[in-house]
Amino acid sequence: MRDALPETDAIRQLKAREPMLWINPHWQPASRCIATLPIGRRDLEEAAARLHRFAPLLQQLFAELEHSQGIIESALMPIPSFTAALSASSGRDVGTILLKADHALPVAGSIKARGGIYAVLHFAERKAIEHGLLAGADSDYRRLLSPEARRVFSGYELTVGSTGNLGLSIGIMGAALGFSVTVHMSREAKEWKKARLRARGVRVVEHASDYTAACVVARDEARRNPRLHFIDDENSLELFLGYSVAALRLRDQLKLIGRPIDEEHPLFLHLPCGVGGAPGGITFGARLVFGDLVHCFFAEPVEAPCMTLGMASGRHAAVSVYDIGLSLRTDADGLAVSRPSQFVGRLMEPLLSGCYTVRDSEMFRHLLALHETEAIEIEPPSAAAAAGPLMVLGNEAGRRYLDAHGLLPFASQATHILWTTGGALVPAEQHAEFRRSARSG
Ligand SMILES: *Cc1c(COP(=O)(O)O)cnc(C)c1O
Repeated sequence: MRDALPETDAIRQLKAREPMLWINPHWQPASRCIATLPIGRRDLEEAAARLHRFAPLLQQLFAELEHSQGIIESALMPIPSFTAALSASSGRDVGTILLKADHALPVAGSIKARGGIYAVLHFAERKAIEHGLLAGADSDYRRLLSPEARRVFSGYELTVGSTGNLGLSIGIMGAALGFSVTVHMSREAKEWKKARLRARGVRVVEHASDYTAACVVARDEARRNPRLHFIDDENSLELFLGYSVAALRLRDQLKLIGRPIDEEHPLFLHLPCGVGGAPGGITFGARLVFGDLVHCFFAEPVEAPCMTLGMASGRHAAVSVYDIGLSLRTDADGLAVSRPSQFVGRLMEPLLSGCYTVRDSEMFRHLLALHETEAIEIEPPSAAAAAGPLMVLGNEAGRRYLDAHGLLPFASQATHILWTTGGALVPAEQHAEFRRSARSG
């Protein structure tokens, strides 16, 4: 038996499934912590450069990347009607709220189009160099679409454990390059995601267990077979760095629309969190790019707050949400993770501002509001981010955080970005079903 968890207020609230905001006491200014991290600016820039090398290949492979020259990126959008409705219903000036539309990322329709696709490209590049298909970084990467390259790639199998979207991104990208791909789907995965993958020739293994257990099976298989490459969401630096590039793109987009980010105009990122790779990668990138001007918060369902629990207890991946009596039962499939990443939580200790938890009913309320006010359709996990601005501005712990950072006078000048993480590939009928659930409350 392990020692009992500390009986802090945060852990009591998590156990009680009460929506809560946990402020990270280990946060440090960038000037103190960035240099001590095991990864840094160079890793971020290398990841961005790799995506540029692959851009001509991606442009040729996916028609929807034609206009962006092979760069997979989403829009940064104003959502004035949603913002006005939120201000009116809360009786509070919520400042400027923007939406980072990763729910509409091309190719994979979710935030996994950053990390998942990057992880496949990273592996493909390594194998291509080993097999002499690429001379070096200045080769024309479109060569990797040749029959010869396909023959090489078809000798390898990619496997991954997924709640749905990671499998979709790895399956779509892996199959497009000629890899054979096996996706181990946890019980949360939606049928349409499995069907879509099977239609592309991807092998889908359905598990009756949760995400962590599906990964154990996939990892074991890969250990026994050297031609099998397991993309390990709980341990993968590649996935993490693929996500981190978003921060460079966000900086350029904010500049383009003339939105100031400075001491008097702080930036808040609201990031839905499952295993932690996506929000962690973006937070790492954002703290490198924006330093102390950015305040990053993770959003999790009350039934699956694995990162909040891991960080608040200091136990990270050694503790699971089942240990505190939670069920993992949430309609936010992409966030239904019982145990956080093996490394993200520790890396986040000096970088992250905090985490909050959200009830499914609140997620559905925001999902419906985004549709009614802005005609935006998202998956339930995306909607968790929409709880963020009021958590920070309206809650006692949030006010203390703003005060400690000298931000109370500037709260109404802040920019809050809701990072919507999935939705574009969801069938129309399923979107209608989400709204029916929201209305029946
Ligand atoms: C995967 C996913 C997340 C969270 O990403 P993690 O890396 O698991 O933390 C959030 N939203 C959606 C829709 C996802 O698919």
